[in-house]
Amino acid sequence: MNLCDLAPAYVRSIAPYQPGKPISELAREIGLDEANIIKLASNENPLGVSPKAQKAIRAVLDGLALYPDGNGFELKHALSRHLGVGMDQLVLGNGSNDVLELAARAFLAPSNSAVYSQHAFAVYPLAVQAIGAAGIEVPAKHFAHDLDAMLKAVRADTRIVFVANPNNPTGTYALADEMERFIAAVPAQVLIVLDEAYNEYLRPEYRADSLAWLKKYHNLLITRTFSKVYGLAGLRVGYAVGAPAVVDLLNRVRQPFNVNSISLAAAAAALDDHAFVRKSHELNLAGMTQLTAGLKQLALEYIPSFGNFVTFKVNNAASVFQKLLKAGVIVRPIAGYGMPDWLRVSIGLETENARFLTSLKQAIGG
Ligand code: PMP
Repeated sequence: MNLCDLAPAYVRSIAPYQPGKPISELAREIGLDEANIIKLASNENPLGVSPKAQKAIRAVLDGLALYPDGNGFELKHALSRHLGVGMDQLVLGNGSNDVLELAARAFLAPSNSAVYSQHAFAVYPLAVQAIGAAGIEVPAKHFAHDLDAMLKAVRADTRIVFVANPNNPTGTYALADEMERFIAAVPAQVLIVLDEAYNEYLRPEYRADSLAWLKKYHNLLITRTFSKVYGLAGLRVGYAVGAPAVVDLLNRVRQPFNVNSISLAAAAAALDDHAFVRKSHELNLAGMTQLTAGLKQLALEYIPSFGNFVTFKVNNAASVFQKLLKAGVIVRPIAGYGMPDWLRVSIGLETENARFLTSLKQAIGG
């Protein structure tokens, strides 16, 4: 028996997360100039980093010899004002991914289970498996979370239910009434992790006042991120909002300096860059219209999306993905999500969306 064979079986059987292909990797593989490659594979902000965040990043460089503020006071203070919640209701993470893992580590032991939906964000099963707890995957309904079935799947040993709203990679969204009914029905001894990574992309008429639910439901934890509309995916900052007692538990399993100084400063500045957020939101809505119109024209089925991406169906998705790569366009295959006939494309700039549609037309032989 060697050392690695003795690692827990639940760790050895983890299938690692498959990220979007980086531009530099494709450039190396096919000898294309990086400038001629577009990446629409990871739901990033095509407008880049907000000007206010860039300024804050430059200002913090001289102080990097010192450890960051392990409590993230400035960012929490800014978030507390922005969201109208107490600072003791906030936990910061190295991306919201980190916060999702903190929730799993704080609430799950190997004897517990966690519930999530089929086709839901891949980090939920990974975080659960890394602990050796049981993952209960509930079949989706028309690609969306079947909240009633998820409720029924909760067992006596269940400690977490993960819900992505909107979900990635399907882009589906449960409206406020449906979501609150679900939250109210989940037993009080089960933590509801409501992942709102794409919340800021919702049109105002669809946005739920989910933060208000926190006052009523102390087993609710809402996670959000600076990786999407705030344009800071490379810096890795996210956060969770919940009851102080829940947040306190997450903080106990958190690395002392899990968010670095550049990220803390950039996130606080990005939060305040309302013009950038508005522009990103508007660009996304226009891009969604452009992409879905193009997909319709190509007679391709797609799942109506509430995020900054859209998932569409093609014959031979793996081959279409490869053809797009050769054309310098990176999208995301989602076979790993149980959707082998589908590809996911992130909304880019108008020119990038147009180039994607042209390349897609060629790739499907249209
Ligand atoms: N939740 C969902 C639903 C996501 O799609 C993502 C990013 N792909 C995340 C969480 C994690 O994002 P980050 O760690 O960059 O905050």
